[in-house]
Amino acid sequence: MSRAFVILAAGTGTRLGGEPKQFRLLGGRPVWKWSVETAWTLHREKLIDRIVLVLPPESALTPPAGVISAAGGASRALSALSALRACEDDEVLLHDAARPFASVKLCRRLIAASTGKNAVAPLLPEANALKKIENGRIEPLDRDDVYITQTPQLFPRAALRELLENASCHDFKDEAELWLRRGETLDFVAGESVNFKVTEGGDWEMAQKIADEGEVRTGLGYDVHPLVPGRKLILGGVAVESALGLDGHSDADVLAHAAADALLSAAGLPDIGALYPACDKKFKNADSMELLRDAFARVRGEGWRLEWLSAVLTLQTPRLAPWKDAIVRSLETVLGDGRLSVTFKSGERVGPAGDAQAVFVWASATLRR
Ligand code: MG
Repeated sequence: MSRAFVILAAGTGTRLGGEPKQFRLLGGRPVWKWSVETAWTLHREKLIDRIVLVLPPESALTPPAGVISAAGGASRALSALSALRACEDDEVLLHDAARPFASVKLCRRLIAASTGKNAVAPLLPEANALKKIENGRIEPLDRDDVYITQTPQLFPRAALRELLENASCHDFKDEAELWLRRGETLDFVAGESVNFKVTEGGDWEMAQKIADEGEVRTGLGYDVHPLVPGRKLILGGVAVESALGLDGHSDADVLAHAAADALLSAAGLPDIGALYPACDKKFKNADSMELLRDAFARVRGEGWRLEWLSAVLTLQTPRLAPWKDAIVRSLETVLGDGRLSVTFKSGERVGPAGDAQAVFVWASATLRR
């Protein structure tokens, strides 16, 4: 059983006006990217095998690595069809790029409700009082019978493709409607009110509010390495002139290690001891800045961006003030400009730091997504 996550981003967004909404920046990234990030999380959980992004046929956008792109058509149905032709998976989750806040939990619910043969859509009870207008007269409408349909919607790919290939008109609002019109049954899971569709101006303002607030996390990292003769003193990727250097399996860059652990901890990922174990020969004398780069890529892969990283390092000798700019610049090549501060403290001749036996680093990272 293989499963594709299809993001429909080929619409013209005429209702909102201006640039199609799926390409506007929301919280610093295009609206479509929010769905790609959700899909990547599902991919890491091995719940989906492929990500397909359906773009307008004239789009010059290169999809992110690992994402297949398909050219959309003149209607939603043709765009969906294009995606179903672009993959060979047994099942598809069809999702509107205009719903950037669909959660991973919702997708897990849909997948859990799959039998391999059924279709499943998220439904949300209508909370507003409803009326309908018939022949110019306003009539009450019982909201207890009314549900909002959301995406992603899960379908067996071949069956949906056949329906779309044979559809004589494309006037359905979503694939679930086509599915039901053909007399098929639809299973459902609970939708989410935050998974609203960005269509009108008011929706856009609401989406911006949610995206700007986002989720903020702080992580703490700590590391210590002994100071010994005959080793280099590498701090944040910079080889500092010193009589003593740091001992360890890798290059023992205590600052890079604490920074990586702060980032990984904030993102809720395994720490560097688990990701790059000292028992693995591959990491013998490893360049720890590469480990930091890899750790940061994993963190960004979860949709996080770094707001700020702050580190404190305790070392008796040599004085590090003259090296500070080089160390900060070196860390910035990995973490981005203007995103970090490093403070150096003398050991005050107290304890193992003051006796030049070891270097200690504490780091905190603040992430947002
Ligand atoms: Mg270490």
